[in-house]
Amino acid sequence: MTGQEAANDTILVTTTTVFCDGNKDTGGHPRVFLKLDDHDHEAVCPYCSQVFKLDPNAKVSAAH
Ligand SMILES: [Zn+2]
Repeated sequence: MTGQEAANDTILVTTTTVFCDGNKDTGGHPRVFLKLDDHDHEAVCPYCSQVFKLDPNAKVSAAH
């Protein structure tokens, strides 16, 4: 167990594109790529409802 577990269901990420393939608890699912919303900087997995949120410290150019 290497610390990817958050206190809630949100996973902080450092890129605007993430993938999810479930986890041991939910049983897993086919790997899907998710793009974080341009405004909310969040994405929700349609399979397992996992929430991904951009780490506020991430060095990502979110705006053009
Ligand atoms: Zn998922």
